Amino acid sequence: MLILQTVAELKDWVREIKSAGHTIGLVPTMGFLHEGHLSLVEKAKAENDKVIMSIFVNPAQFGPNEDFDRYPRNLERDQQLASGAGTDVIFAPSVEEMYPRESQIKISAGRQADVLCGAKRPGHFDGVLKVVTKLFHLTEADLAYFGQKDAQQLAIIESLVADFNFPMAIRRGETIREKDGLAKSSRNVYLSGAERDEAPHLKKALEMGKALFMQGYDPIEPMTQYLNEYTSGKIDYIELLDYPTLTADIQNDAILALAVQFEKARLIDNIIFQLKGELSHA
Ligand code: AMP
Repeated sequence: MLILQTVAELKDWVREIKSAGHTIGLVPTMGFLHEGHLSLVEKAKAENDKVIMSIFVNPAQFGPNEDFDRYPRNLERDQQLASGAGTDVIFAPSVEEMYPRESQIKISAGRQADVLCGAKRPGHFDGVLKVVTKLFHLTEADLAYFGQKDAQQLAIIESLVADFNFPMAIRRGETIREKDGLAKSSRNVYLSGAERDEAPHLKKALEMGKALFMQGYDPIEPMTQYLNEYTSGKIDYIELLDYPTLTADIQNDAILALAVQFEKARLIDNIIFQLKGELSHA
């Protein structure tokens, strides 16, 4: 496995691979890898000749009071995990390499960013769009892989690719969970012991909410009560929307999503399901 840290090195490698007629799958990450990330590499390996994983904690997507500085980082450990999963190249640029000058052009998410995390983290998805646009161009990826764990991000990136005719396609990966249901996340290391014990209630609240909704009830209030009773975290939002449009008018797939702020970690989770009641396969 190669580890490339500069744009020039990456471009050279991409040119070689493309001129040999090979396809490239891209798995963008912020590192501190877990099985969620590795499941995306597995999917990418099955569908592409070569797999690039980017590891870049992107300052553009963090707000001024968010956790950019203390976001967990461990490139050495990441290299072992990525290599074990069959990644061909890690692209791990510095902030200066990725953003050598102030951008003169702004990319801005549309209406899909007005709800859920977008409403709570102003500018977050603009920062995501900025970095993925650069990564898509630099890697010339044929396919790029994103997890349903970050369902709003996935929906917005699908819109970017569709609206601007990026010559590639986005693939969705299902949310990978711990045995007790907690969605895997790099930020889980910041949960205290007691918070870690409470955290599986997020998924339980989602399942309860889905069951209530399917029986014709509004799930938001009972879910709020449940989370307030069983966790010490502060609810940031609980919302039920159409997916992937993220409008209130639910047509085919619905997303039930929540964010809970614990002492040092803000956790998000969601489930996406068809109105018929079957889990939709992302
Ligand atoms: P991150 O490093 O948190 O920015 O995540 C990088 C990619 O991995 C994104 O596409 C995420 O949606 C995806 N991802 C993160 N956690 C999970 C998970 N538990 N299951 C599946 N994909 C995930």
